[in-house]
Amino acid sequence: MSLERLPPPRPAQCLIGVRSSRCKGGTIVAEDVWTVDEHRRRMCDPDGYRPCFCPRCEHPRLHVHDYVERKPVGLATVVVLTLVRYVCTACGAVWRVLPAFLPRHLWWTWRRVEAATAPEPAETQDEADDAQVRPVPPTTRRRWLDRLGASARQLVVLLASRGVRAVSAVAGAVGPQATRAGLVEAYAGQFDVPLGLRLGAVAALVHRLQRGVRLM
Ligand SMILES: [Zn+2]
Repeated sequence: MSLERLPPPRPAQCLIGVRSSRCKGGTIVAEDVWTVDEHRRRMCDPDGYRPCFCPRCEHPRLHVHDYVERKPVGLATVVVLTLVRYVCTACGAVWRVLPAFLPRHLWWTWRRVEAATAPEPAETQDEADDAQVRPVPPTTRRRWLDRLGASARQLVVLLASRGVRAVSAVAGAVGPQATRAGLVEAYAGQFDVPLGLRLGAVAALVHRLQRGVRLM
């Protein structure tokens, strides 16, 4: 049997757990915020990140609950980012809004994760500058590659069943034997997602389709 025909390994348990719908609140990813500057602009506006409705009960009124800090790794100049959390005035759910360039469960920015795991690394000047600040440790890179090399079956089923037609078509094209990296590549090709935004875009999509599902 050819090695190429072996199915990709199962992803780690942490990647396939799904949040209970009973969970009150969670994270909303702002899928159009890809830079620190844009994040800061949105934070300056009281309504900049305010959700139109509560994802849990669809109530239209949410108030600012508090602000939390996040210390991402891999940005050249930013040490601490402030994030806003909103509370639903009907059900009490609390929602943290995360800019798309920050993963929910990784310390590094998506751009750095993507650059470090690219088959043919093509660093932009920004990334080169960042790399001078702090290179990605080999063990961290290995862990990311393992996750991207794991089976995308759960994500493929999710995209096929809940995505809009074009997204569903991508899932159908890659099939259940795809790796997570393969799914990202196909999605980026279909929707012309620029380098640096690809992992974040797919991660945000799967989280939107089923809250809590992780790409990596
Ligand atoms: Zn609510």
